[in-house]
Amino acid sequence: MAELEGLEFGKSDFVLLDEVTMEQFMENLKLRFEKGRIYTYIGEVVVSVNPYRQMDIYGKDTIDAYRGRELYENPPHLYAVSDAAYKAMKRRAKDTCIVISGESGAGKTEASKYIMQYIAAITNPSQRAEVESVKNVLLKSNCVLEAFGNAKTNRNDNSSRFGKYMDINFNFNGDPTGGHINNYLLEKSRVVQQQDGERNFHSFYQLLRGGSDEMLESFHLQNDAAAYIYTREGATSNNDRSSHKAVMNALGVIGFSEEEISSIYQILASILLLGNIQFESDGENVQVLGQEAVKHISELTSTDPDSVTKSLLFRTVATGGGEVIEKGHSEQDACFGRDAFAKALYERLFGWIVSRINSIIEVKDYNPVLHGKNTVIGVLDIYGFEIFDNNSFEQFCINYCNEKLQQLFIELILQQEQGEYQREGITWQHIDYFNNQIIVDLVEQPHKGIISILDEACLSVGKVTDTVCLDSMDTKLSQHPHYTSRKVSSFPSCWTDTSGDNIWKVSLSNPVLKEMWPDGQLSITEVTKRPLTAATLFKNSIVALVDKLACKEPYYVRCIKPNEMKSPVLLDDARCQHQVAYLGLLENVMVRRAGFAYRQPYARFLQRYKMTCEYTWPNHLMGSDREAVEAIVTQHGFQDDVAYGHTKLFVRTPRSLFSLEQERAAL
Ligand code: ATP
Ligand code: MG
Repeated sequence: MAELEGLEFGKSDFVLLDEVTMEQFMENLKLRFEKGRIYTYIGEVVVSVNPYRQMDIYGKDTIDAYRGRELYENPPHLYAVSDAAYKAMKRRAKDTCIVISGESGAGKTEASKYIMQYIAAITNPSQRAEVESVKNVLLKSNCVLEAFGNAKTNRNDNSSRFGKYMDINFNFNGDPTGGHINNYLLEKSRVVQQQDGERNFHSFYQLLRGGSDEMLESFHLQNDAAAYIYTREGATSNNDRSSHKAVMNALGVIGFSEEEISSIYQILASILLLGNIQFESDGENVQVLGQEAVKHISELTSTDPDSVTKSLLFRTVATGGGEVIEKGHSEQDACFGRDAFAKALYERLFGWIVSRINSIIEVKDYNPVLHGKNTVIGVLDIYGFEIFDNNSFEQFCINYCNEKLQQLFIELILQQEQGEYQREGITWQHIDYFNNQIIVDLVEQPHKGIISILDEACLSVGKVTDTVCLDSMDTKLSQHPHYTSRKVSSFPSCWTDTSGDNIWKVSLSNPVLKEMWPDGQLSITEVTKRPLTAATLFKNSIVALVDKLACKEPYYVRCIKPNEMKSPVLLDDARCQHQVAYLGLLENVMVRRAGFAYRQPYARFLQRYKMTCEYTWPNHLMGSDREAVEAIVTQHGFQDDVAYGHTKLFVRTPRSLFSLEQERAAL
């Protein structure tokens, strides 16, 4: 068992601070970071600081030390909450979830992988082959999703550009039997454009650098990222080569067929070729430059070259009379259409990969009578708050999602506290806490919220411009205390997400494409229907996510990014304070302390402190553990600082417990 930490490493739980101030919080955070203690609790919440270096704290010895233990028996660790979630699931048949939050580069994805590795390591002790195979697929899915959903950004070399929620299912033995992945809002604009210093999704560079000569040749590709407009901003590295191997291997292990794997890469190749297609106009007609590329694309997607050309040059519009006609693109529209196609292809490919993994890992033939309750641990690794100089639609969605999760956090943490006091028969003291609901409502309320107002503006007749949308919001929301009028560049065009109404009217023989577009038409939108706006679709998916989380017992990991330089030795005060503030960590500590900072079952308390009291050492002779605990408390003179619950002792201020700890250490 790992040694409990001494005081030289700072306080292992922020509730033990003498005073809950930003200054003391930061002092403790910094001290622990400097001492290599990257995890600290707030009650059962883990605060994690990205160490930006390999830590020797994830090995088998550590796993063994945490397996089956209680939270406070070991120094704070992801493994301790993973174990708590696992125990709740196994012993009490509770569905649980672990919500990981924090900004880009704070360490969410790494944390989610350690959590999954821990769960994989402590389950299936009898090594049953079918369970091992499920675990293997779950772990390998990370590698594939990262290849297709992550990219190098200016904030993180391996930034997740999608949100991920993964359920792991367990049988009555507590062994994994399957899982399900939900993905949220892939940042598809990256496929066609990246900011300076950033890259497209890893998958493209992996293919260009790691694909065999035969593979690249058959795809009509050169092994040079600079040769393609969509990838020329970023360079490939040796990592891409090894990752390509790993991804190919993972796809095979998960159960993708050879044919499916080659289709995936054919689509990637088509996207790269598509990006290089240019157009020229003689003032009247627009032509595709480079018929060669069109030929290769149609070969790779098993479509007809004429229909490819046609769909690049024309769009289908619905007339007032319900007729559908074809209209020639301008050169600029043709470029938009091409890019919209590339984005749609990639988004569908990503969605298809996720659903294919799901079809492989979903629990099959489950019989509750035979197999007992099917319980779940969910792991959420979703994008954190982002504020840039220029914020677009994606930032709006991401930040809305975080407001929603923050609201859930508030509700669940308060509810949990309240529930515990009620169960233990202790009076609950209400504490003031900023209620995020008002922000959530501002965004999502029907008719009155930002999403509804913009949807209305976008779906009304006439041309939607930024000004129309902004005016409409200003009129309807100017009285709202949290609304400020602002110019948001390129907002509405992303809003409806229908920038190219193209249809490739072709029969699809490529099996992957067929599954991606089941109606047999390679289209971005259906012209006849008014599509739901991207914002509404996103809102619906986030509301569903929150509902899913709300009915589970939650565990939280709050990740902090220590600095912008990826330095293992620097904890930037201002940056960290900002994160502590918006994650609501001080309030979290206050809520935790408002009633009682610490609570422990009587037997545990006794076990830990019996040596500090003459009536309980070595064994107590009192009627119950509770009476023995009363003796300890009274002898140390903090009887006014505690309350006695049905099964647990509640301690109001950490100082009392602290003095006991010190006495214990001095013995
Ligand atoms: P994003 O929102 O951009 O996806 P993220 O929060 O998922 O960001 P990660 O990708 O998990 O961030 O972490 C960024 C990098 O920080 C990792 O690639 C790794 O180099 C380093 N890192 C994070 N956590 C750890 C850890 N526990 N130990 C060592 N390095 C870490
Ligand atoms: Mg990530």
